[in-house]
Amino acid sequence: MAESSILERVQSQTIGLPELKPVAAVQKPPAGHWVGDGFPVRTIFAYDNAAPVSPFLLMDYAGPHQFSPAEQRRGVGEHPHRGFETVTIVYSGEVDHRDSGGGGGRIGPGDVQWMTAGSGVVHEEMHSDDYTRRGGAFEAIQLWVNLPKRLKMTAPRYQTLRAAGIPVVSLPEDAGSARVIAGEFGGAKGPAETFTPMAVWEISLKAGRGAIVPVTAGDNVSLFVLRGEARINGRTPAKHAEFVQFGSGGEVIRLDADSDALVLVLSGEPINEPVFGYGPFVMNTEDEIRAAISDYRSGRMGHLG
Ligand code: MN
Repeated sequence: MAESSILERVQSQTIGLPELKPVAAVQKPPAGHWVGDGFPVRTIFAYDNAAPVSPFLLMDYAGPHQFSPAEQRRGVGEHPHRGFETVTIVYSGEVDHRDSGGGGGRIGPGDVQWMTAGSGVVHEEMHSDDYTRRGGAFEAIQLWVNLPKRLKMTAPRYQTLRAAGIPVVSLPEDAGSARVIAGEFGGAKGPAETFTPMAVWEISLKAGRGAIVPVTAGDNVSLFVLRGEARINGRTPAKHAEFVQFGSGGEVIRLDADSDALVLVLSGEPINEPVFGYGPFVMNTEDEIRAAISDYRSGRMGHLG
């Protein structure tokens, strides 16, 4: 119940009320499209629709979708990336990844793949053989995370963050827990190595409970509701697949769950540089995009063996 919220205890003890970060916008999910034949996605935000979410460039929400058992793996075949990172978080199903830098692996529920495309990789993202044969629920998120100009041509890198290595912190008053993929929360540090400061947290709240989530001043902050329904800052409702952007100012956001809820919180220091993207490449200028296309076509980003 709200009566026992931390916020109100802070108030009653007059130890200083943290300022709430204001809600700027709540967006309903857009219509979906398919990425290859394996990923029915809704693009929750993208850099070309001007969402002030830097350093995050894009979020695709895949599923939830039931796949029937099949023989032939579904997914998206060989394609390049340059100039940013792709972060894939799996909730249901299994994804196999293989790239021209020799990176690869299988991620399942709770696992995260944090791939730095940097100067360029060619990769494929496919359902695993086991999951293809088994079928069943598929649900995942892919984030695109920008790199600053000085790091766009950094060497490709691949981090597999297993669920077992991602810390889960209990929230006060048995309200739920926070899973810390990147950044710090409640004294726990997420395993993701990032090039610029950012946080990726999953906040799990029990129905009727709430939490105060401290955020870094100056960060762009947003959240996505994966499950259930939450009220933001005590009043703005947000439900499944809705995306909430916060404005500037404020030190905390407050989340109250009207039903059991799972909320993905994104926070990061903005990269205030020009963004010029084309398909799978995100650079700073049109010339750099032309170079990326040329480098890919001439094989300089490699091929899958
Ligand atoms: Mn890709």
